[in-house]
Amino acid sequence: MIINYSKRDDERKRDTRLDERNSLLCIFVTTFLIRFNLFSVKKRNQLIIPVFIPHEGCPYRCAFCNQSKITGVNQQSDEIVVGQTIQSYLDVFDSESLPEKREVAFYGGSFTGLPEERQKRLLHAVQPSIHSGEVHSIRVSTHSLLVSSNKISLLKENNVKTVELGIQSTNDRVLQAVGRPCDFETVKSAVDSIRKNGLRLGLQLMPGLPEDDENIFMKSVQDVIGLTPDFVRIYPTLVIKNTELYEMYKLEKYLPWKLNRMVRLVKDALIAFQKENIPVIRVGLHADPSMLENLVDGPYHPAFRYLVDSLIARGKMFDLLDQLQKIPQTLTFKVPSREVSLYLGHKKDNIHAIQNRYGINNVLIQQIGDQEDLQLVA
Ligand code: SF4
Repeated sequence: MIINYSKRDDERKRDTRLDERNSLLCIFVTTFLIRFNLFSVKKRNQLIIPVFIPHEGCPYRCAFCNQSKITGVNQQSDEIVVGQTIQSYLDVFDSESLPEKREVAFYGGSFTGLPEERQKRLLHAVQPSIHSGEVHSIRVSTHSLLVSSNKISLLKENNVKTVELGIQSTNDRVLQAVGRPCDFETVKSAVDSIRKNGLRLGLQLMPGLPEDDENIFMKSVQDVIGLTPDFVRIYPTLVIKNTELYEMYKLEKYLPWKLNRMVRLVKDALIAFQKENIPVIRVGLHADPSMLENLVDGPYHPAFRYLVDSLIARGKMFDLLDQLQKIPQTLTFKVPSREVSLYLGHKKDNIHAIQNRYGINNVLIQQIGDQEDLQLVA
């Protein structure tokens, strides 16, 4: 007997994983993604040039955030820095290897919270590179409280094409607990302004904040789905030194989530976004030396996305097995060759899980073409 897995879900997953490989820099996680982006741009022919404005323009200090510790950058950006940063990135490439799409990204703070003059200076500093064709567009990260039609118009006039908003949660208690009160109406209004101006929208969520739990986070996921962003990033909450969250942790007022719990929740979130064709372009923090040095506790894993994807793969294998009338002692899963490690799971966890759950002795994995779907041969 051969049972096939639904092709539609695989296609969504492939799209999402492709988007992750091509992911751009996140709102508050900055320098440690530079190398990653240089890798990813080679695959997609897109170059992101990050310019860091750590904590600048922020309406408050969120309990989980110490921007300079996460990014490893303490220096304010100015016109000179913008020019030098662009050049340092472009210099890496010769004319043949230069990625086709090139974008400057202002990350690390709340761009639209900067004084207007400073916003203009930074945006204007990029324009010569846009006019010369070296750079094509700009993206910024900011906070919903700091978005208005006027502010978005200024961005649009200066070749900003994408705005990323840190939502983190849509639950008032969670946001209050981490010192970033912002009601959902404000988020919706910010999203409207961004959409009306025809800019791309990225949203960011953080599961595991104080007062958060599985139900609350999945409600945030549904709220974000309702906003139909172009992409999403998910950053499980970690305890980083020199943050308010670290102080709460030391006083045992905040208990970080275990890795397994977080992986399970992010898996559910990913499935929900995949169903709506919303790409999750980044899951979990990158293993940057600055971040690792300051990491105190929490559900960190260098291959967090892999753990989530392999748990999703396990669910698909369970789904097929549940369709069998009788469970045999030996069976084979035919899996796309590029996804063998996902179906095996970390340290063959998926195979062990199947053996334990169904009492099967031999679970075999056989590679098939990448365009084919998961099959169970029993
Ligand atoms: S608004 Fe963003 S950058 Fe500013 S403190 Fe909060 S998380 Fe950090």
